[in-house]
Amino acid sequence: MRIDIITIFPQYLEPLRLSVIGKAIERGTVDLNVHDLRDFTHDRHRTVDDTPFGGGPGMVMKPEPWGEALDAALSNRQADQRPTLVLPTPSGQRFDQPMAAGLAATDWLIFACGRYEGIDARVVEHFREQVDVRELSIGDYVLAGGEAAVLVMAEATIRLLPGVLGNADSAPDDSFSPTREGAPLEGPIYTKPQVWRGLEVPAVLRSGDHGAVADWRRAQSVQRTSEQRPDLAQDDLG
Ligand code: SAM
Repeated sequence: MRIDIITIFPQYLEPLRLSVIGKAIERGTVDLNVHDLRDFTHDRHRTVDDTPFGGGPGMVMKPEPWGEALDAALSNRQADQRPTLVLPTPSGQRFDQPMAAGLAATDWLIFACGRYEGIDARVVEHFREQVDVRELSIGDYVLAGGEAAVLVMAEATIRLLPGVLGNADSAPDDSFSPTREGAPLEGPIYTKPQVWRGLEVPAVLRSGDHGAVADWRRAQSVQRTSEQRPDLAQDDLG
């Protein structure tokens, strides 16, 4: 999978080069290209923002550098390639696990990190002809810029690519996975030692009875989901 990220803070994306995601990049499962938006400006101050038409507070990202940056990212596109352009924005659709799976099924993602009050709306309008546009929010709050949202969405997506996770069984069993048993949230998990600070691992998990373990995990998943996320629980309790 190819991933391009356009930002005024390229260093912000460096954490993607750590851990399992970093290994996926090292192995070539992901071809990560981070671009500095300011490289596509032509003035002494490398300006990327200007005042909003119609007035109001804050600054808006200018369309010209975005146009040039996206033209450059798309320049070696094959005729049959249609990348997905992801614009992180609090006014987008809420990003979730099925969306991560959807993005993982594509072969080319371009993330455009907004700053200030966001990007001039004509940029999306113009590039819709060449790319599939997804305007996505990571939650109902406002960040200072799109970089943190891109770290979240890229990591959630890349870990679903074949071969990225050490244990192939772990993703299908994660919270929100459509293939997991029980309710959407995973219940409590334990490791050795059997007793820690007087707290014992539930006996059923040490019983060797796989059926009983599965039943217990399912019940814990249902309980946790109804306690933590009653909005998700309904479907699974019936
Ligand atoms: N004026 C915008 C609004 O009210 O919708 C907020 C702009 S925010 C200060 C600057 C940038 O941060 C946005 O362009 C977007 O890239 C990013 N951002 C902020 N909150 C986000 C969220 N919840 N999800 C995804 N991106 C977000």
